[in-house]
Amino acid sequence: MSINEETKLSVDQNRLFYQQMRTTTPLQAVVATGWFGVLMYHDSSIIPIFWLVIFLAFLTFRYSVYLKIKVQDDYKIASQINAVNRNALIAAALNGLLWSTFYVYSFYHLSEQWMLLFAAFVVVLMASGFITLTVHKQSFYAFFSCFIVPIIIFTFMFNDMGDTLFFMALMYIFFGINILSLYKNINKTIIDSLKSVIENKRLASRLQELSNTDSLTKLSNRRHFEEESNRFFEKAVELKQKVAIVMIDIDFFKLYNDNYGHLQGDNVIEQVAKGVKNALLKNSDLIARYGGEEFIVMLTNTSEAEAEKMAKKLVSIVEALEIEHKYSTVSPFVTISLGMAIVAPADNLILRELIDKADHALYQAKSAGRNRYCIHS
Ligand code: GH3
Ligand code: MG
Ligand code: MG
Repeated sequence: MSINEETKLSVDQNRLFYQQMRTTTPLQAVVATGWFGVLMYHDSSIIPIFWLVIFLAFLTFRYSVYLKIKVQDDYKIASQINAVNRNALIAAALNGLLWSTFYVYSFYHLSEQWMLLFAAFVVVLMASGFITLTVHKQSFYAFFSCFIVPIIIFTFMFNDMGDTLFFMALMYIFFGINILSLYKNINKTIIDSLKSVIENKRLASRLQELSNTDSLTKLSNRRHFEEESNRFFEKAVELKQKVAIVMIDIDFFKLYNDNYGHLQGDNVIEQVAKGVKNALLKNSDLIARYGGEEFIVMLTNTSEAEAEKMAKKLVSIVEALEIEHKYSTVSPFVTISLGMAIVAPADNLILRELIDKADHALYQAKSAGRNRYCIHS
């Protein structure tokens, strides 16, 4: 599945956001329980208990969601990113609303001194909310509009406000404005750095791809083949599966180049590569451009009969491309010769030797007249 850069950014933002939330969610539970304790001391009503139960249930549910996302692979949530963003926004709004309603409730039930203490709590919550949510724009605005804005409005609307509460409200406003003005810069810095991480990953994988690919045929290059084939070979040994190496060389290619030109020659290499690649259907078959007009194929989990069938097919497929070659003495068209060696892992052979054997078989196919395959015996 290919994911666009915007979705990747959104996933990375969410991941960072969840990491932050995993730290601050338990903290919120502690603060809420402490606040609830103070209220219980002053007011024996059922409402604070009701609120606390709802709030803790909400935090527990949210926390369990974050824990689940933690174990998810890199971009697994990409396909649901819109829903993930929407849920985070709803959760942040609900979180803010729970705090602001409880704040208002407390206002009617606690003394001014206690409310001052809670003002300090609110500032701490604002600060930790700011740090936690800066990375996730939707949640940031949802939380702050449902938490601070109602508190500020309520504080100013409260009729019996003394000087202390008035200054407290001013402090909220000052703090809120401060947070909002800092938010944009910090959010931008975080987003930019996430973007550059994504871009670096993209460049690294593009570079990897380029260093593994032959630019003309888009097949693997020899270096990549050497890496991959060793891996495949080890796996075949482990699974006790037979492995065949097929060396392919275009016949009379020097003559082709000399008469049709190098550019046309390149074209032929490309077409032959495509033809050979299309003939290999199993995705466990490796193919690479091994040299100028030479290709190498590794067939895994194959029998002698299957490998031979494939060799025969490759020879006929290339001739059937009907690429004119007037200077070939074996066919009016471009052809290939092919050398194959097959091994069962019990033979205790190393890959290098298998390649040498296939190369030797190729030499035999050339000597025997070209446009054919030869199997190393
Ligand atoms: P044989 O049937 O014995 O294989 O004869 P051949 O002429 O194909 O063999 P040889 O190895 O002598 O020639 C290979 C030629 O392939 C030499 C070179 O001009 C050509 N060649 C190698 N790499 C490229 C390439 O990237 N593009 C083009 N157009 N030609 C290439
Ligand atoms: Mg050659
Ligand atoms: Mg050749």
